[in-house]
Amino acid sequence: MLRIDDLVVRYGAAVALDGVSLHLDAGEMVALVGPNGAGKSTLLNAVSGLVPAASGSVTCEGRIAQVPEGRQMFPDMTVEDNLVLGGWSIRNRDLSEVLDLLPDLVRLRKAKAGRLSGGQQQMVAIGRALMAKPDLLAIDELSLGLAPLVVAELAEHLRFLNRDRGTAILLVEQEVSLAFDLCPRTCVLEAGRVVAAGPSAELAESE
Ligand code: ADP
Ligand code: ADP
Repeated sequence: MLRIDDLVVRYGAAVALDGVSLHLDAGEMVALVGPNGAGKSTLLNAVSGLVPAASGSVTCEGRIAQVPEGRQMFPDMTVEDNLVLGGWSIRNRDLSEVLDLLPDLVRLRKAKAGRLSGGQQQMVAIGRALMAKPDLLAIDELSLGLAPLVVAELAEHLRFLNRDRGTAILLVEQEVSLAFDLCPRTCVLEAGRVVAAGPSAELAESE
């Protein structure tokens, strides 16, 4: 459903992605790992159309919604209003559908987003993306700054979305063990190039 072929992205003279290819089937869950500055966020942003390709191509058969790095809430607005902002597009979910998918958000509906814990904010950021009824959820750094127990809970929600709802997931993750654990397939980026890709179990063995 997602085909990235020979993608090159430049920021001025700097090459951030240097010929990256990555394919995702419908309903797949794939991790993107690699050191800081490898180009992971750039790749997600190119998939979402936020940064242009210098050459190569990105084609997606379905709809993409991104969970941005750092969650990016409107802190003075309620959780509910932050969620509704995700449903601006023509094909979207009702708030109640997203609350069914993420029931922990029900009791937080009227809370100001800025007062929530990091894990709760990440849940809101995922919910906001789900409002757009995406076929592909692109998540930039799920675990950043969160306690392991909180991450495990979020990961459980993603598994459910993937297995039961068929949502494809492209996960950028610094925590390699989490990436391997959650995603059957992993792609390793270094300095704008794919240096390894394949089943996570095989990559984990060769580490
Ligand atoms: P990662 O997400 O793997 O940490 P990024 O995609 O953020 O990597 O960055 C890839 C490279 O592109 C880095 O060298 C980074 O400094 C550079 N870069 C990212 N965004 C910009 C930008 N807006 N302008 C200039 N350079 C950028
Ligand atoms: P990451 O944590 O993914 O490496 P950064 O913290 O490096 O991302 O970057 C945060 C923001 O700054 C992003 O929007 C990125 O595009 C931008 N950015 C990163 N590197 C540069 C750069 N060298 N010049 C300008 N903007 C950059």
